[in-house]
Amino acid sequence: MKEITKGAIIYEPQNTYTYLTGGWRTFRPVINYEKCIRCYICWTYCPEPAIFKRKPAGEPVPNERVAEKDVVYIDYDHCKGCGICVAECPVKAIEFVKEEK
Ligand code: SF4
Ligand code: SF4
Repeated sequence: MKEITKGAIIYEPQNTYTYLTGGWRTFRPVINYEKCIRCYICWTYCPEPAIFKRKPAGEPVPNERVAEKDVVYIDYDHCKGCGICVAECPVKAIEFVKEEK
């Protein structure tokens, strides 16, 4: 609670990336790259800066069969597990898996 500003006021625009919301998650979205058609609808709907259109440099390759530069990538430090991407994916390529803690 100490990290939250008075009245939860946001003093700077576009500061969401400084908050790590991954700890809120109960379920984790996992992309099935065999089904993903790279439409980026998940990227459009995600309310957090948690989905990238490309895998950031240095992050692990999620699937050896997919070219590194083309994969949609979920940043689990920022994914809060809301499930919007799971609901919106048109080809049901994202599975919601219970977190093991
Ligand atoms: S919405 Fe589904 S098919 Fe589209 S990029 Fe995301 S995971 Fe892939
Ligand atoms: S579960 Fe929610 S926060 Fe996480 S990647 Fe999907 S839309 Fe974004």
